[in-house]
Amino acid sequence: MRWSKAPSTQYPVPSSHRKAGYGVLSTGYWVLLAGVTLLSAAPSALPPAPPSAEEKHIAVYSPVASYTLPVLDRAGREYVGLLELLEPLGRVSTQSDGRRLRLRYNALDADFFAGKTRAKIHGRDFDFGAPFLIENSRGLVPLSSLSALLPRFLGTPVNFRESARRLFIGTEGIQPSFRLDAGNPPRLLLNFSAPVNPTISTEPGRLRMVFKRDPVVSPGSQSISFDNKVITHASYSENNGDAELDVAANQPLMASFTDDRKTIVISAVMVPAVQQTPAAPSGVGTVTGSQNPAQARSAANSASGNNNNNVRRVLAVVDPAHGGDERGAALTDQLAEKDVTLGFARLLRHELEIRGFAVALVRDSDTSLTLDQRAAVANVARAGIYISLHAVSQGSGAQVYTALLPVEGTSNGVFHAWNAAQAPALPVSRMVSAAIAAEMQKREFPVRASSASLRPLNNVLMPAVAVELAPGADGIADLTSANYQQRAAAAIADAVVSVRDRLGVQP
Ligand SMILES: [Zn+2]
Repeated sequence: MRWSKAPSTQYPVPSSHRKAGYGVLSTGYWVLLAGVTLLSAAPSALPPAPPSAEEKHIAVYSPVASYTLPVLDRAGREYVGLLELLEPLGRVSTQSDGRRLRLRYNALDADFFAGKTRAKIHGRDFDFGAPFLIENSRGLVPLSSLSALLPRFLGTPVNFRESARRLFIGTEGIQPSFRLDAGNPPRLLLNFSAPVNPTISTEPGRLRMVFKRDPVVSPGSQSISFDNKVITHASYSENNGDAELDVAANQPLMASFTDDRKTIVISAVMVPAVQQTPAAPSGVGTVTGSQNPAQARSAANSASGNNNNNVRRVLAVVDPAHGGDERGAALTDQLAEKDVTLGFARLLRHELEIRGFAVALVRDSDTSLTLDQRAAVANVARAGIYISLHAVSQGSGAQVYTALLPVEGTSNGVFHAWNAAQAPALPVSRMVSAAIAAEMQKREFPVRASSASLRPLNNVLMPAVAVELAPGADGIADLTSANYQQRAAAAIADAVVSVRDRLGVQP
């Protein structure tokens, strides 16, 4: 088992399953799966779309405050409110009779006149180059004047990038640096000299980070190519007060922050080809030679109409937990959980196939996969059901788990979507869990059903359960007994059949 949070005390985690590094979702470590996998399937999870006619903004960055202000178009020029511009930077007050505006900024006085290009600041003339405006006693200054105007008040030079509407006062900005870690999967590390808080969104092949309040500047080049087949390049742009970094890849991308929020780690989620067995010879149609679950699904669906059996073939994704270097619990000195789950998964595949399901195993060998990859396999395939299998040496019979979704408010925006992708399917997941418990009881397996913060259940879009097999009357030997496993697998398969009509990605 893998726990992201402690489960309820009613269902303690066997200590053999507690292992350093299993707590995947620590606080402050947001995980987002980018790309087609989650987002195309759950459009409601996307962040709110920007207004169709995007409002113009100017962003101001200074050591005392970073803020954005609306930009107004007047007679073909762009303006910003003078009081609003100065207010976060010092003590400011204005008085106006509609034709003249007197302003005091800290100890400095200024006089402005409606419709005039000239003003007096601290006794000296200033030329706006365009008319100063007064609207509802509010002074508006042309953006084009800011580079010259602000130093007169602030006493320091400013860097105003007018085309992007970004104004830097007393700060050089935060320059990102990139480092590509060409491992498997590859990762791109973006380092910043100060904490950042971008809005992250995705579209197929692209992960976008938009910096609204952080004075992020160009990494030195508008476009950076990486010598990598998966993460290919990054680009920088700035517009309307925002800076944007885009990373392009040909696999879904996942972004996470380090705790200090100075590093964004962007990793590719390598969606593995899933071992697919030929479908059962049940006269329903066969799925042969498919190398991935999407093909299996389409074959499964097209099979439904071409013979006298009208039952829709549902794709079940069965996930033997752990694998490769990640051995899971040590059930005995010799017996690793990863091997028990694989054998159990193969038996469950058989039991589901003879009941007319198409089945894909997330792994059919001793390979290591991340939790995100496991969820991605089921989500990309739009499977009807996802079943994760674990094993444990203590207890007896079986435990069936459904997701315990993160509490509202502990996540934000699109990040929430990945942690709570399971939400729409959860009622059916609980039906599946109850059905499995009932079938196991019929076969005299002691069984308990509960919910737990158990990844990747919360990242899966379709009904999803985890079944943890514990020894029976013969003790630990049961865990390697094909007969014992087969009884458990048959119970699960019968239960899945009983809810077949409810399976699939929930609307
Ligand atoms: Zn486990």
